[in-house]
Amino acid sequence: MKVLILGVNGFIGSHLVGRILRDTNWEIYGMDLGTHKITDHLGNPRFHFVEGDITISKEWIEYHVKKCDVVLPLVAIATPKTYVTNPLKVFELDFEENLRVVRQCVKYKKRIVFPSTSEVYGMCPDEAFDEHTSPLVTGPVPMDRWIYSTSKQLLDRVIWAYGWQQGLKFTLFRPFNWMGPKLDSLNAAKEGSSRLVTQFVWNLIQGEPLQLVDGGAQRRCFIDVEDAMDGLMAILRNEGGKADGGIFNIGNPGLDHSVREVAEMLRELWKDHPMRSQLGVALSEIVDVSSGEFYGKGYQDVLNRKPSIQRMKDTFGFEPKVGMKEALAKSLDFFLQEFEAMEQVEEES
Ligand code: UDP
Repeated sequence: MKVLILGVNGFIGSHLVGRILRDTNWEIYGMDLGTHKITDHLGNPRFHFVEGDITISKEWIEYHVKKCDVVLPLVAIATPKTYVTNPLKVFELDFEENLRVVRQCVKYKKRIVFPSTSEVYGMCPDEAFDEHTSPLVTGPVPMDRWIYSTSKQLLDRVIWAYGWQQGLKFTLFRPFNWMGPKLDSLNAAKEGSSRLVTQFVWNLIQGEPLQLVDGGAQRRCFIDVEDAMDGLMAILRNEGGKADGGIFNIGNPGLDHSVREVAEMLRELWKDHPMRSQLGVALSEIVDVSSGEFYGKGYQDVLNRKPSIQRMKDTFGFEPKVGMKEALAKSLDFFLQEFEAMEQVEEES
């Protein structure tokens, strides 16, 4: 199988490349702006990488959609901070640029595996979100946070309609707070624009307070990226065509924690960590901050977000295994290595 991955140097793309090269004999064609998350794989003869911007390299993309069997358009902005600071950029990249790729898949009759998002459920009141029955609930237009959710939702609907009206072969998958190495760069965390786990790790390394937005009672279900990859690989393998036309939540309802609990668990891991004494960093406080202060205007939060993974279980026997402490410890250690490398570069320059 020939797999086209746009945004191959991202969190999902980089892990997926590792899995595909390790577990299959497939060929990967990939494009991204940079290579820092995939350097280990660049020498592999089954990985054909081109550095480029999907908004510019349109002919390369069309040629490769034609050439490949399955297309994963993973290029998107997926950090809440950017939804409120630059909503138009989110729409242009996440929606407009991806719509073009979707249409090419229709034109050339290629299978598309599209990253939808747990954000589409928004403030859904259901206890566990179901792909076929849960309502998708977003806030009013002045709340810019919902631009990401609604951009993705409309693409989901467009792909779905291309499926039954024009025979597009597709699968939509919805990540629920995947975490692990390479989630965001520490530089993003430095600017305060990364996702929760990376942000807290950065704060801990700096000895800065961990900030709980609006009290930190809001809950998320986290999943280790290796567990999530088991799910995504099953979808890509598509044995018996079981993934065709499907929408699948990929998450771990067993790791349901409040933001405050995540802060406390990470702080606990860091408290006795050998690197803390090595760096001589004081243990961070946990403090409250308003969403207005933290994100600026246009932010509205999701208070509960739990996936039903029944469909993944029934279809693929999906069963996440990694526990919360282990997943957090892996992320912490990865970011510490990245931090050490960052420090070294700064010392040398
Ligand atoms: N959050 C927080 N402190 C931080 C970063 C994030 O309290 O330093 C909160 C954020 O408001 C949200 C949750 O943590 O309620 C998860 O945020 P993330 O950026 O991971 O994205 P989301 O799950 O909302 O898509």
